[in-house]
Amino acid sequence: MDFLPFTRPHIDEDTIAAVGDVLRSGWITTGPRCQQLEAELSAFCGGRPVRLVSSATAALEMALLVAGVGPGDEVITCPLSWVATANVILKVGATPVFVDADPATRNLDLDKVEAAITPRTRALIPVDLAGLPVDRERLYAIAGKHGLRVVEDAAQSMGASWKGKNIGNGGDLVSFSFHANKNMTSGEGGCLVLNNADEARLFEKLRLQGVTRLPDGTMDVDVLGGKANMTDIAATIGLGQLKQLAGFNARRRQLAQLYFQHFDRELGCDLPPADFEQSNWHMFQPLLPLERMSVDRGEFIARMKAQGIGVGVHYPAMHLFTLFRQRGHREGEFPVAEDIGQRTVTLPLFPAMRDEDVLRVCKTVSAVLRPVLS
Ligand SMILES: *Cc1c(COP(=O)(O)O)cnc(C)c1O
Repeated sequence: MDFLPFTRPHIDEDTIAAVGDVLRSGWITTGPRCQQLEAELSAFCGGRPVRLVSSATAALEMALLVAGVGPGDEVITCPLSWVATANVILKVGATPVFVDADPATRNLDLDKVEAAITPRTRALIPVDLAGLPVDRERLYAIAGKHGLRVVEDAAQSMGASWKGKNIGNGGDLVSFSFHANKNMTSGEGGCLVLNNADEARLFEKLRLQGVTRLPDGTMDVDVLGGKANMTDIAATIGLGQLKQLAGFNARRRQLAQLYFQHFDRELGCDLPPADFEQSNWHMFQPLLPLERMSVDRGEFIARMKAQGIGVGVHYPAMHLFTLFRQRGHREGEFPVAEDIGQRTVTLPLFPAMRDEDVLRVCKTVSAVLRPVLS
């Protein structure tokens, strides 16, 4: 039987042809296709300024710079995310302050955020894990009360919504990823949604060596920028994907519902939060009943793979990585994130999957788990 990966991008033939056109055009780096994608993303975000970059990691790091976060500042985030979320805080010289996850949403526990705020706290980085939005009302109420900036790590929540509006329509700075595994891709890439033209102008400088082009054909440099612009090749892929995003996400939602219908409830796995309104179902992640299992998660994944099914882990709680242990973090600090991080597995979910693929995954999970349960 065919190997079923946990995710696979879907690039249609029109997009492939459009990339060919760009390659033949004589202009392959940042140009008209990037401008077009920025305009379309801005429309998607209710007219707010949107600027493209080469990755969401770059978008997050530069968002912190736009928000004025630097050495001596603290930034609150959740340890249950891709490590980029905390790495960018360190990159700008600030200190990541972790707050445990909420077991119901697996996102930042908003009941615990205020206790972590100190006079040095400058910003919050909430993460919409698996595409399930963090409660924006509560989040911004906390940020407003304490005068904090918010950098939304919406890498996984492109096309997810809050109260009927796409993520990115409201809020402070919002970062999306177009990495190959995300709900829409440009191969690699990302973007930042900003508040106004001044922020957008600063962000443009930060992404390309701080350069301002002058009307007389020369240039000036007044801030230290880096190199994070997107290519027109990538933007062309992104344009093709944005057209299909709503369809992709509708199909993901259907497949997630099928998982809920067919998943063997006697296995004792905890299923993900059943949100079929706002989530874009970036991933489908049950938590394994490890305490009842006679094999570990690695062995479960290996046995699934032997049956032709790819399973991922997104993510171990990041405060237990060596880099963060060296900064004083330790086991037991964030018990919810640690528990989820140890038990989580990502099962196949991508728009081109057939209904019968979901049935096959559910049957295989039962066949692999039942014999090892006590
Ligand atoms: C993918 C991802 C990122 C980083 O995106 P890149 O485009 O790969 O830099 C950051 N945060 C989260 C939660 C992600 O899933």
